[in-house]
Amino acid sequence: MVDDLNGSNQCKSQMHDWQAELTDRSLREVIEWSCQKFNGHLAFASSLGAEDQVITHVLAETAPKVRIFTLDTGRLFPEAFELIERTERRYKIKIEVYSPSSEEVESMVREHGIDLFYQSVELRKLCCGVRKLQPLKRALQGVDAWICGLRRDQAVTRQDLKVIEWDFQNDLPKISPLWNWTEKELWDYIKAHYVPYNPLHDKGFLSIGCSCCTRAVLPGEDIRAGRWWWENPEHKECGLHSRGDQFARDPFSFTGNTIKPSQS
Ligand code: SF4
Repeated sequence: MVDDLNGSNQCKSQMHDWQAELTDRSLREVIEWSCQKFNGHLAFASSLGAEDQVITHVLAETAPKVRIFTLDTGRLFPEAFELIERTERRYKIKIEVYSPSSEEVESMVREHGIDLFYQSVELRKLCCGVRKLQPLKRALQGVDAWICGLRRDQAVTRQDLKVIEWDFQNDLPKISPLWNWTEKELWDYIKAHYVPYNPLHDKGFLSIGCSCCTRAVLPGEDIRAGRWWWENPEHKECGLHSRGDQFARDPFSFTGNTIKPSQS
């Protein structure tokens, strides 16, 4: 635990200094700093996306003891499971897989239907809450900070992302070592280092989540246009990365537009 920092209040108050300290650091340097600062109580939440695979690559080389976990929502593409296996073999690591509570999933589906997410933003966020937010909370138990693969240019909701921020939902520092990487830098790194990635990326799936909530992106569309494509862009977060907004405080009270899906 971060005894020397005297708990989360001190961490919060140091956020601005840490942001300034890390802003010009490289991916490797941010990871090394994080390992040193949160020694033994750091975890990486991988969504198995291209960004996450780059971070896994660097962690495997520089900090193999850092826990890497992913969330199996129960609605993932088969390619995601194949990628877990391939990544574990390549780096000789274990990726911890967290699943949602079967009771919560059964109760939600009984009440709202199996594909409730198409009915409204509220129900979509309920599903993300049950299948992602709750397992994330379990995965983060005992952790002092977590790493994720967010980048600024992934979405309109992430344009003011910082390299380290306070995660109000989990009351922890959240580190985004790729915060200022461009799409081109990301893929140049993947190709140069032969980083394993999801083959769906080569079929137009730029950002990949659950199979029922992800479609391929059309030429000229935003990177995350294929995620919850029936919703307005400003609503396109599952709640894992809410940043102090209304939804972050209460993921089940969000009120947004209700738009019927028009699958293409
Ligand atoms: S992405 Fe879709 S299926 Fe996956 S948890 Fe969210 S709403 Fe549910």
